[in-house]
Amino acid sequence: MQDFEKTMDIQRATIEAERCLYCYDAPCMAACPAHVPVPEFIQSIRSGNLHGARSILQEAHPFIETCGRICPEEAFCQSACARGKIDTPVHIRQLHRFVTDATDAADRIELPGATAGKIAIVGAGPAGLSCARELRSMSFVCDVFEDRQAGGVPSQEISTRRYPREVEQRELLFLMSRFVSHVHVQHVTDVTRLKSEYDAVFIATGLPAESELKIEGVQLAGVHRARELLRKMRSGTDSGVGDRVGVIGGGNVAVEVASMLREEESERDVVIIYRRGMKEMKAFKKEIEEATALGVTYQFLAIPDKVIGSQHVEGLQVTQARLSCEDSSGRRSFDALPGSSFVIPLDTVVIAVGQRPDEGVFPGIDRSPSGLILVGDNMQTNIPGIYAGGDIVRGARTVVEAVCDGKKAAECIAAYVTGGR
Ligand SMILES: Cc1cc2nc3c(=O)[nH]c(=O)nc-3n(C[C@H](O)[C@H](O)[C@H](O)COP(=O)(O)OP(=O)(O)OC[C@H]3O[C@@H](n4cnc5c(N)ncnc54)[C@H](O)[C@@H]3O)c2cc1C
Ligand code: SF4
Repeated sequence: MQDFEKTMDIQRATIEAERCLYCYDAPCMAACPAHVPVPEFIQSIRSGNLHGARSILQEAHPFIETCGRICPEEAFCQSACARGKIDTPVHIRQLHRFVTDATDAADRIELPGATAGKIAIVGAGPAGLSCARELRSMSFVCDVFEDRQAGGVPSQEISTRRYPREVEQRELLFLMSRFVSHVHVQHVTDVTRLKSEYDAVFIATGLPAESELKIEGVQLAGVHRARELLRKMRSGTDSGVGDRVGVIGGGNVAVEVASMLREEESERDVVIIYRRGMKEMKAFKKEIEEATALGVTYQFLAIPDKVIGSQHVEGLQVTQARLSCEDSSGRRSFDALPGSSFVIPLDTVVIAVGQRPDEGVFPGIDRSPSGLILVGDNMQTNIPGIYAGGDIVRGARTVVEAVCDGKKAAECIAAYVTGGR
């Protein structure tokens, strides 16, 4: 497995730490959704106290191993780094990763007795387990309900190149053994029933469903859903797809699946087919660069019309597009060029056009028109004592934002259960 980013050695990390300006207002810390005290952990690296640096990171952030590897720092801490105004921002995420690679998850946390109340957490991803860690540290007992695999999306769908198994095991073993009382392997459908058994419930189920592409031919053999394939490949099972693959989409899921299909078979042609251009892709820039380095190619400005084939996929008919004005999100929209359709010969089509909430569960909980759970400022749903956070509330976002929600929900739940005691 090709790791594009080698971890820093101590010399490089120390030189990088010396570039930090230790700003009094720490804009990097404010820009990190988990509010990691960046200057403090960098100062610890500089003074050679790596275990101290780990403790600082660990106290602020339950998923430090994961975020050290896959946090999109250019959208958060590094975008605010004052050093960027002089030359280049400090490589904060790489320093973050250096600390987690160089030190053990030494269990230095003294936990209080579990006497404050009993909380049910539905979904053992970054939001759910962050909430569990904070609540257990405040004397609550936390039971987790998970229908697939603890760890959420990173453990289930992200390439082992970016998030290796041993890093995952280190993180999850620590979190699950220290902060979770019981794990119920169960697909929860009714949270009001759970509320009658627990003092409060936190829903952190993410976006487990996939958006459909409503074009002709998607029922043909050789058409796959991206996230099903990701789960298969992450678990070590052969994807079983062909040699000429078209991935439809421009987000993180499309780029992840295209990269993993190339990693699995380097002779395979994998082309990302997207309606806009590279600048408009929603995937993280670093992931696009890695996909390109792995040999993924792109067919931009192509609108899928139909999958061609009699029994099995033989190609994808697309219409050429042209970029037009910016839409409300600031991204350029596109128009189809009439009479410009052509066929891309393929034996496999992978649909990667979006993630959705599971709307068949949790009756009685208010949702937005797109199915996201609605919460107030205190993260409570319309039912008192039932809280929600992470992707199921925000839509498709990031691990560090799910961590932020888990931490905040824990505080709100503690206040609700203890009545401010
Ligand atoms: C392919 C891909 C690549 C990504 N790459 C990155 C990246 O590089 N960096 C980054 O920061 N973010 C990335 N993300 C986004 C990130 O993974 C999510 O924002 C984050 O995992 C959300 O955390 P969560 O806890 O809200 O939900 P999830 O991680 O989705 O966890 C929800 C958990 O709930 C479980 N569950 C769902 N329904 C039920 C139910 N009814 N009963 C019981 N359990 C249930 C699920 O099995 C899952 O374990 C990526 C996402 C995808 C799909
Ligand atoms: S968690 Fe992400 S945003 Fe926060 S300090 Fe680490 S790399 Fe930066």
